[in-house]
Amino acid sequence: MKKLTALMLSSAMMLSLAACGGSASTDTASSEAASSEAASSEETATGEAAELTTVNAGKLTMSTNAAFPPYEMTTDSGDFEGIDIDVAAAVAEKLGLELQIDDMDFDAALLAAQNGKSDMVMAGVTVTDERLKVMDFSDTYAEGIQSIIVPEDSDIATVDDLSGKAIGTQRGTTGYIYCTDDFGEDNVIAYDDGLTAVQALNNGQVDAVVIDNAPAKAFAEANPGLKILDTAYAQEDYAIGVAKGNTELLNAINGALEELQQDGTLQAIVDKYITAE
Ligand code: GLN
Repeated sequence: MKKLTALMLSSAMMLSLAACGGSASTDTASSEAASSEAASSEETATGEAAELTTVNAGKLTMSTNAAFPPYEMTTDSGDFEGIDIDVAAAVAEKLGLELQIDDMDFDAALLAAQNGKSDMVMAGVTVTDERLKVMDFSDTYAEGIQSIIVPEDSDIATVDDLSGKAIGTQRGTTGYIYCTDDFGEDNVIAYDDGLTAVQALNNGQVDAVVIDNAPAKAFAEANPGLKILDTAYAQEDYAIGVAKGNTELLNAINGALEELQQDGTLQAIVDKYITAE
């Protein structure tokens, strides 16, 4: 887990660098600091956000797929929790909005944000060139790695060994896209979510599952007899997706993310869910 935490730290640094590069809300933190003296003349992040138009008035509606631990999952009592959930709640608070979470399949969660049915998608979403054509992305708030899960006695030891094998993925994910590109559609099975893909691996219906590293670790821990290969398939950046052209919301989200990064909230949330070994 150390490696992942280090990656998170480096992406938090990327976020701050990106923010220094001239985000529209770069001055909100300092204006807040000065607010006791100049409250009437300075606009705070919260003041700006109150004017945001969202899908449901007064709410920040987030589409997600809550089967992707530790980014989003459900508790035994049916509540949502995870890194994305906590970050979204903190962003919503900064914007003076109430967080509403809509749980659905991953591909539907992307579409919801694209089509303006949700304000944003947060689901460990990787920024890709293809997605950038149909939606806008916030600054990066975490990094992911595509990992390979196999049974402990598997003869698959490298990415190349996946050739000719049955590979389980989640529908609509980068794991699915990379694997179909590299090994052909006939060899790749798309499941509704990561949990179902891992169940198929347990049942011997597929030889490997390609999925993001953090959920891979959670699934491997919960399923004795499975292991994660040391070889990473691909390295990626996670960001919040919004409808193309929704610049007002995007700027507000980036301003909030920057403040959360600077005051340590972002790292505290990551540390809550990903413990260094
Ligand atoms: N990071 C991957 C993607 O964006 C998978 C995300 C997920 O399954 N929630 O495609």
